[in-house]
This record gives sequence, structure tokens and C-alpha cells, in this order.
Amino acid sequence: MANDAAEAATPSKLVIRNIGVVLSGALENPILDADTVVAENGRISAIGKAGDVDTSGATTIVDARGTVVAPGLIDSHVHPVAGDWTPRQNQLGWIDSSLHGGVTTMISAGEVHHPGRPRDIVGLKAHAITAQRSFHNFRFGGVKLHAGAPVIEPGMTEQDFKDLAEAGVKLLGEVGLGGVKDGASARQMVAWARKYGIQSTIHTGGPSIPGSGLIGADVVLEADTDVVGHINGGHTALPDKEIRCICEGCRRGLEIVHNGNERAALYTLRIARELNQLDRVILGTDGPAGSGAQPLGIIRMVAMLSSLGDVPAEQAFCFATGNTARMRKLDCGLIEVGRTADFVLMDKAQHSAGVNLLESVRLGDLPGIGMTVIDGVVRTGRSRNTPPAERLPEVVG
Ligand SMILES: [Zn+2]
Repeated sequence: MANDAAEAATPSKLVIRNIGVVLSGALENPILDADTVVAENGRISAIGKAGDVDTSGATTIVDARGTVVAPGLIDSHVHPVAGDWTPRQNQLGWIDSSLHGGVTTMISAGEVHHPGRPRDIVGLKAHAITAQRSFHNFRFGGVKLHAGAPVIEPGMTEQDFKDLAEAGVKLLGEVGLGGVKDGASARQMVAWARKYGIQSTIHTGGPSIPGSGLIGADVVLEADTDVVGHINGGHTALPDKEIRCICEGCRRGLEIVHNGNERAALYTLRIARELNQLDRVILGTDGPAGSGAQPLGIIRMVAMLSSLGDVPAEQAFCFATGNTARMRKLDCGLIEVGRTADFVLMDKAQHSAGVNLLESVRLGDLPGIGMTVIDGVVRTGRSRNTPPAERLPEVVG
């Protein structure tokens, strides 16, 4: 487990060389002309050709051996409860398993699976603050899990959102999972949250599990959350005409999740492309949930959207990296000088029909992950979860 304070105090310089392809995470320029990436003290300090960047004084050297380097993947929609345990499926190790799927950052859409979750206002505030603190302090394998996402309940006032923000809460859980299900009340609370710098998301579609409810396009548009959470349903999707109505009716984020309806995911992607707004598409797993935890959920979404949705693989990776980072105002997610040095190194899986990683993903195969890096520190080697990669990066110094 990471000890952030100790790492910050020790000067470090990571050099990753012999990179085959650098994926930037930025839709407007998804492939960089570079074979070397340098990070100092956890932040990217140089990107370029080996002869053009200063690689002297490295404390860690990684030979990428021709593999692809991308920003660490971001899961925009998780439901954590306590550390690396989820009571939803009574499972241990889901965060660690997701790191082996290339995910280095996660965003809570509400700690809703907490047994006996408080729904009174002081209780839900305390619960959110506790979750924010505990996941900030507990970084399993270095994975950054942004949690503390209260689910709004009737009776909350502007002062409650001010209190939450002052206590460090930066997110709302899915609107609609609590007692506030009408557009007008949701819109007021979402606006208060936004005023104090708290981002918001909403449950879109039919009920997930017994006890949750339907949220249709009218409520989604009226609530005006920053992200349209699982626009492809979690799992039950809205009718296509309502999905189109949401896509066309706002400029908010369009979050597609693994635990949703795949056909609705592809429909959403098609509308976003028609609108020339692929920058709005972000990816989540919505796990752990009824469908379980999905350690490979994000790369499965990348491969599914690229292959069936006819999107170049280098663009599909942006949905899981730069798009999310920009929308969520995170300092990771892009290979850009000054950004956090969070990376995933991968190659095409052994025996994939594609000639290289990008073509293999375009054909619907998953990449083989060979290494993850968070804050400039190598966290994992060859993934225990993905198909084996053809080539593997190696720490050589
Ligand atoms: Zn939901």
C-alpha cells in the first residue's frame, strides 16, 4: 500500500524508454510522436524521442520493449464501501483486481452498499465525510479512489452542501438512489452542490435493484447533473428516444457503464458521434453491484466500443482517460507535462488476430497489460487478469 507522505519526500525520476506507441488520452491528438516518457517526483516532466529528453539521474528505468503506454484508466462509476472489501458480493480485493485491469483512478457514485447506510441528513453527511477520509487515507496499491459521495435526501438545505464542501466532500452520489426523485428538488440541490464545488451525477434508467427507482429523460434533464450517470442503464436502459433526448438536450457528460445495457451503450455512442461530441463520452463499471465487480470492465468497454461502435482504438482509450479527467477535473488521465504520472503499459494479447495493440482492440480483443504505474511508481507487473501480452515491459534500473 502506498505511503504518500514518504514517497513525496523522496526525490524520484522515472524513465520509460523504448515505447512503441504513446497514447495521450486526448481525443484531439490521441497518438504522440514519442518513445520516451520521464516523470519526476510523480509528475510527467518530459515526453519525446530518446535523444531529445533528459533521462539522466533516473531512479527507475523501465524498458517498455515496444509496448504501448497510455494514461492509467479511470473508472468513472464505482460503489465502494470499506477498503478493498465490498459487501455487495461479499468480495475482497476488487480494487487490487481492477488495478490489474489497468485502472489507476476510481470515482465513487455513492457508498450505497454500506450495510445500514444512514439516510437521515446528519447521518448521510457524516457517512460521506467518513468515506472521503477513509479512501483518501487508504490507497490500495496506490489506486486513487475518490469517494465520499452522499446521496441526496429530501430536506437538505444549502447549508448542508456548504458544510459538506467545507469538510472535503467533492462529489454527489447518484441522484435518485435516495428519497429525492423529482426533477425540481434534484435541480435545486444539484445547483447548491455545484455552487460549492461538488460534482454531481444521476441514476439514469430503470431500477438497479429492489428499492431503487426509474429515472427518465425528463428528470435527468431537469436535474442537470454534471454527469448523466450510466446513460445506458444500470442495468435497465431508457427507450432510445429518451437517450437521444438526453444527448441532444444538454452538454453534460455521457457516462457509459459496463454494468449497463450494451445495445444502449452503442446507441449513445452513435448519437454522440452524430452530434460531433465524442468528448462527452466517459466510461465506468458501476461495480461492485448486482453484476459483481469487473476488474477488466473498463478495457472491456474500450474494446467493445471500438470494435462494435466503429471507433479507432486510440480514441476509445480517451473515453476512459482524458475525457474523464477533463470532465472530472482530475490531474491524471492525459500524457502531458505536469500531469500525474499514472500509466498503463500494454501490448496486443498473444494470438490476437490484430497486427498490433490498436488493431487488436479494434477487432474486439482485450489488451494484455504488462505494467501499471501510479504517481511515478511501478505498482504491478504482468497483469494476473488480462490475457498474456505478446511483449512485456521490464524494470531495468
Ligand atoms: Zn445507478
